[in-house]
Amino acid sequence: MGNAPILEVKNLSKHFDGTGVLKDVSFAMNEGEVIVVVGPSGCGKSTLLRCINGLEHPDGGEILLDGKRIDSGANLVEVRRQIGMVFQSYDLFPHMDVLGNLTLGPVQALKRPRLEVEAEAEKALARVGLADRARALPRQLSGGQKQRVALVRAMLMHPRLLLLDEITAALDPEMVREVLNVVLDLARDGMTMLIVTHEMRFAEAVADRVMFLEGGVVLESAKPSEFFHNPRSERARQFLNTFEFDAVK
Ligand code: ADP
Ligand code: MG
Repeated sequence: MGNAPILEVKNLSKHFDGTGVLKDVSFAMNEGEVIVVVGPSGCGKSTLLRCINGLEHPDGGEILLDGKRIDSGANLVEVRRQIGMVFQSYDLFPHMDVLGNLTLGPVQALKRPRLEVEAEAEKALARVGLADRARALPRQLSGGQKQRVALVRAMLMHPRLLLLDEITAALDPEMVREVLNVVLDLARDGMTMLIVTHEMRFAEAVADRVMFLEGGVVLESAKPSEFFHNPRSERARQFLNTFEFDAVK
């Protein structure tokens, strides 16, 4: 593990129809680091993640993965291979069973032997408590099970970096924990993750650093113990209070 950051975002800007969503966003991530991005709805969290994995094209600034520019729109296939992303809605292929969904990427994109990938997928399923669901179709799974499969699918590509965009936002409360526990497990294993979530207790538990995005810039970047209990800006304090997260305690 070197000292060079895995990901560097420098002066990133992105406009939609003349409105600046990301104005000047800069940060770096080291290997094994977990950063949670929080901020009010519409502040650009998804846009930031989408710029990083090439789903949006930034207007200005630079994004570097392992020191190499990835914001040009070139090498998109390679970039997506190295940066996994899981969204709020489970985007599993409905006509393929769980094992089929899990093996597709490694077999087709990485050209790995199917049997080897299947063995790895079955092990990974067992780890997330889904050993008996390998042959189930997505519609036979609960939302929480689908998101655990989506996480396993991303991990089977062995990404350098995993982007998680509100992956529990569409789940019933009792399923949130089983999904977040998988993410906590990945963090313990040293997975580098950039996570957008509204689950503030989870954010505090999983994050090495919290970034508060507001007005197109990173308004605060702090350890969770500092951000959640002693935020520097009044704006962050207001934001946390909307979660009934008592910022002053
Ligand atoms: P967040 O994820 O923080 O809620 P988003 O990144 O989704 O915020 O959106 C930030 C702003 O950019 C919002 O005002 C949203 O309406 C706008 N926006 C996002 N994507 C597009 C798009 N493709 N076209 C136009 N406006 C967009
Ligand atoms: Mg969003």
